[in-house]
Amino acid sequence: MQLSNNNYRKSKQRTQILEILKNTNIHPTAIWIYDKLKSEFPNLSLGTVYRNLSILNEQGLILKIKNGSTFDRFDAHISPHYHLICEECGSITDLDIDINDIINEIAIKVTPFIIKHHKIDFFGTCQICKNKKNL
Ligand code: ZN
Ligand code: MN
Repeated sequence: MQLSNNNYRKSKQRTQILEILKNTNIHPTAIWIYDKLKSEFPNLSLGTVYRNLSILNEQGLILKIKNGSTFDRFDAHISPHYHLICEECGSITDLDIDINDIINEIAIKVTPFIIKHHKIDFFGTCQICKNKKNL
């Protein structure tokens, strides 16, 4: 009884985590999601949020963005798209351009590797940081 109740609660938390991610475009960290959920689930731990994010990632429902910083960021926008990563403030935003299939063709010519897809991140300075620095 206790166990099934516990399982239910965990999947309810997971559903909520997915909803939160679907409703933001900031590509948040686990800690940001945890802060949003704390009031609704007072017994929630950060570890549980990480575990649920891992499960959602394994299920292909979200993407984990490894941007080289300490904290992974997460994205519920799972169709292929590119990111702009600000080196000043760490913000990650979607870049609304078509996926460049020519890159795959160039790569396929020089390797027997079976290429399915590629990822591109563009690094630089976001508009907010640019305005702050008067660039
Ligand atoms: Zn910035
Ligand atoms: Mn994205």
